Amino acid sequence: MRVYNFSAGPSILPLEVLERVQKELLDYQGSGMSVMEMSHRSKYYDEINNETHALIRELMNIPENYDVIFVQGGASLQFEAVPLNLHTHGKADYIVTGNFAKKAFKEAQKFGDYVAAASSEDKKFTYIPKVTKDMFRSDIDYVHFCWNNTIFGTRFTEIPEAEAPLVCDLSSCILSEELDVSKFGVLYAGAQKNIGPAGATIVIVRKDLQDKAAPLCPTMMKWSTQIEQKSLYNTPPCFSTYVAMEVFRYLKEKGGVKAIQKINEEKAKMLYDFIDESSFYSNGVQKEYRSIMNVPFVAPSEELNAKFIKEAAANGLVTLKGHKLVGGMRASIYNAMPVEGVKALVEFMKKFELENK
Ligand SMILES: *Cc1c(COP(=O)(O)O)cnc(C)c1O
Repeated sequence: MRVYNFSAGPSILPLEVLERVQKELLDYQGSGMSVMEMSHRSKYYDEINNETHALIRELMNIPENYDVIFVQGGASLQFEAVPLNLHTHGKADYIVTGNFAKKAFKEAQKFGDYVAAASSEDKKFTYIPKVTKDMFRSDIDYVHFCWNNTIFGTRFTEIPEAEAPLVCDLSSCILSEELDVSKFGVLYAGAQKNIGPAGATIVIVRKDLQDKAAPLCPTMMKWSTQIEQKSLYNTPPCFSTYVAMEVFRYLKEKGGVKAIQKINEEKAKMLYDFIDESSFYSNGVQKEYRSIMNVPFVAPSEELNAKFIKEAAANGLVTLKGHKLVGGMRASIYNAMPVEGVKALVEFMKKFELENK
C-alpha cells in the first residue's frame, strides 16, 4: 500500500513516474538492460543526458548564457565548490537563514575572507532578514543564500539586490515556483527533495563565472570540468539523472512550473489556514516568510507531538517528525505531494485535535 510520505528528503515522487520507471526497469527502450546497467557512453544514456539537460533548461527558462550540469556529491559538496570556483578575491558575503545556509558559510570560511552579512539566528531562524545592497562589502566574489530553509520552514519572497553575483541553494524548492534565473550567478540543488532519487545535484552557472576557480580547486569540483564534458567527465549519477528526466517530462505534461506553483500555493494555504484557525496547533514562523514546501508545526505538548506522529503513521501519513533542531512535526509538501495528501493530513489533524483537546 502506498502512503502519503511527508519526508523532507529523500522524498515522495509522482506515482506516474515510478510506474514508468518500473515499466522500463528491465528493458530500457529495447536495449535489453536497465539504465542502471548501461554504459554512460551508450547512445541510450546520451539521449537521456541530452533530454534531461534540455528539459530543465525549458522548465526553468534558463537563458543561453548559462550552463547546467548534473554532478555527484550532493548540495553539501557545493558548499565547498562555491568558494573554490568563485575565487577572484577569496572574499564573499553570506546570508545565514538556517542550518544548511550556516553549513555553507562554515565551509567557505576555510578558504578566505567570508562573513555573514545578515542572519536570522537571533530568533531561531523563524524569519528572513531584510537585506539591502549596502549591507554587502565591496570586492566580494558573490553573495550566498538559501531560498527555502528546509528545516525551519522559511523562504525568501524576493531576490536580494547586490552588486556581486548571487549564489543560491535551491535544494528544497527547485521547480516549485517560478524564478528569474537571469538574476543569479549560480544556482544549485540536490535532486532528492523536489526532483528525483538522491545522487544527482544540479548546478546552473552563468558563463562569465566559469573561469574564476582557485588554482587548488580539485578537478572534480570545478564546474568547468563537467560543463566542458556535458556532465560526462566521469561516471555521472545515471539512474538518478534518468528518473529526473522522467520527473521533468511529467512536470512539463502538467503545465510546467507555473501550473505546479499554483497547486503548491493551494496546498500550503490549506495547511497554514487550518493551523492558524486552530488553537491546538501552531507554526512559529513569521507569516510572510512561510515556506510553501516545508511546514513545521507543533501540538500543545511533547507528549501530544509524539502521539500525533505515531497515530498519523498508523493512518498512512508518514515521516511527519520534525527535524531534531526544531522538534514537533514537519510536513514536507513538495511538487509530488498530491492535494489529496494534504487534505488527508488536515482531516487527520482535525480528528486528532478533537480527541486530544
Ligand atoms: C537537503 C539540503 C541540503 C543538503 O543536501 P545534500 O544533497 O544531502 O548534501 C542542502 N541545502 C538545502 C537547502 C537542503 O534542503
